[in-house]
Amino acid sequence: MKFEIVTFGSPVLRVKATPVSDVTADFKRLADDMMETMYGAEGVGLAAQQVGRAVSLCVIDVPPELDVDQEGGERSNPDIPMPLVMFNPRIKERGGPQQRRDEGCLSFPGIHTGVQRAAEVTVFFIDWKGVPKTLHCRGLLARAVQHELDHLDGVLLVDRMSAVKKISLAGQLKRLRQESEMRSPKTPSL
Ligand SMILES: [Zn+2]
Repeated sequence: MKFEIVTFGSPVLRVKATPVSDVTADFKRLADDMMETMYGAEGVGLAAQQVGRAVSLCVIDVPPELDVDQEGGERSNPDIPMPLVMFNPRIKERGGPQQRRDEGCLSFPGIHTGVQRAAEVTVFFIDWKGVPKTLHCRGLLARAVQHELDHLDGVLLVDRMSAVKKISLAGQLKRLRQESEMRSPKTPSL
């Protein structure tokens, strides 16, 4: 079942996620429905708050053509199978240089902004089978993990913007609070 994606201005996006104590059939179904919703919206990541549920769950699928560094075209995470279903994810370590790259968000249709994030993260989570996992992620995947974990903490793209960018987008953000707009097709949305 596809959900309607909650957009900026909806209070649930600001609620901190409740940890999942047991990966039940209901939570697995929620993860499946979130994936269907993410694919339907052509996003590469989605957090539970974006479908109106403040539980600690996100889904990520970075396709191979986007899992490349910007210069050489080498795969960033060739050994990590997609999609990823993460219950109770926590970042254990951030590494590499801070990188600035344009980021979109399915809850901010039509908006993208440069966001500085760590180039690499080590993330701990419970997978869809209920098995604890630790992954070392690089490139866009590392960015997606940090973006989705922000969502689970109630932190949004607008909080990561520079003051100047926020001022320049003020009218757009205000409109977004009132209505949805067409999504930018170029920037991967998370
Ligand atoms: Zn987002």
